[in-house]
Amino acid sequence: GLDTKFLQQLDSAHYLHPFTDHAALREHGARVIVRGDGIYLWDSEGNKIIDGMAGLWCVNAGYGRTSIADAVHAQMLQLPFYNSFFNTTNVPAVQLAALLADISPPQFQHVFYTNSGSEANDTIVRMVRRYWQLAGQPGRQAIISRRNAYHGSTMAGASLGGMAGMHAQGGLPIPGIHHIGQPSYAEGGRGMSEAEFGLEAAGWLEASILALGPENVAAFIGEPVQGAGGVIIPPSTYWPEIQRICDKYDILLVSDEVICGFGRLGTWFGCELMGFQPDLIAFAKGVTSGYVPLGGVLVGGRVAHLLTEKGGDFNHGFTYSGHPSACAAALENIRILETEQLVERVALATGPHLKACFASLVSHPLVGHAETCGLTAGLNLVRRNGETVHDCEPFASTHVVGMLCRKHMFDNGVIMRAVGDRMIVAPPLSITVGQIDEMVERIRYCLDLTLEEVTQ
Ligand code: PLP
Repeated sequence: GLDTKFLQQLDSAHYLHPFTDHAALREHGARVIVRGDGIYLWDSEGNKIIDGMAGLWCVNAGYGRTSIADAVHAQMLQLPFYNSFFNTTNVPAVQLAALLADISPPQFQHVFYTNSGSEANDTIVRMVRRYWQLAGQPGRQAIISRRNAYHGSTMAGASLGGMAGMHAQGGLPIPGIHHIGQPSYAEGGRGMSEAEFGLEAAGWLEASILALGPENVAAFIGEPVQGAGGVIIPPSTYWPEIQRICDKYDILLVSDEVICGFGRLGTWFGCELMGFQPDLIAFAKGVTSGYVPLGGVLVGGRVAHLLTEKGGDFNHGFTYSGHPSACAAALENIRILETEQLVERVALATGPHLKACFASLVSHPLVGHAETCGLTAGLNLVRRNGETVHDCEPFASTHVVGMLCRKHMFDNGVIMRAVGDRMIVAPPLSITVGQIDEMVERIRYCLDLTLEEVTQ
């Protein structure tokens, strides 16, 4: 068997993990994950764990799909790699481009491939600026994003993202990136209906555009439902109003679908559920269910038109743009999502069931409110003083109870993410109704364990 202690020592001696408190990691030792099947993971000690986060919101088709492994294997034997620079192409990259055009909203007929969501967003920063050059308005350089958003860890991705901690550590944002607030009703909606708050939050975009001067603004970017910042589901009025404002000032609208794309919300892309028509879509994660890295930008007709005209060259790209083995994984992954009708299942069965389960968790004394959209949900750990979302008191020092709860979950076989004191799930789309019950039962048990410690 595996020597867990030895692996943990090697890990601690040599491996710098992303977003990790290494002092704490040294103390507890990294959990060594060795196998996955469906929604389940196993660690090196033989513990079976429900992966309530689908890895990092990406293993949409679930673990253990031999047909994806077979497709990648076959492609690697045929042609493991070739590039698409300088007038060459490859079969899986072309087939996937056509398939993406087919499953995405009709304005998207072109794709630019990257390896990750961060690179997709970096590509978007450069692409929108190039677009406005080609459109004869080179002054349009500013890009508006949202505070507490996550759009990746590259210089531009982290700049678009609005997480203060990331900015502080890297001298960010890069010039020309501006941030407005999040449409979080629980945080900002006191005294307003949800619909009113949605319009107010969208109005912050208009205020920012007017402050910068519309002639200087290139694009607005946001996630349909914000993921890493805490599953913030905007009021239904928000995105249509954002669309109206972008149209009014002729500003490109960008949807970061790295989490929402490929079925997470019960539609192929989140913008379809939220009722807006972006000019560009960033995608990654679910396109291959994370089996191999792949990301990209879906490019709508307005931008693609100029980039594909004579003189519309875009000096940008990656060695692995359109990587044949990655595209082969994506083709098979999308075939699985289609043939098993996993996206429809989220809309009609598993999503509504998760929503009902999370609504029932609100009766727990530690839970203030819960929101669900498709197969992602979040609940707030609070001290309760009353019935409405505004009658809950956050814990004095944020993230302590969240981390405690997360630890109980992990120790009892279910992975949830803690964003401060908000607990989040986003399981594989292949999860069944019965498995959701199993997951929620464990969550309820761990909320009890957490409550016991909090009230001690
Ligand atoms: N955009 C969003 C909305 C994300 O959630 C993430 C990753 O979590 C990214 C971009 C960055 O993607 P990657 O980690 O593949 O670079």
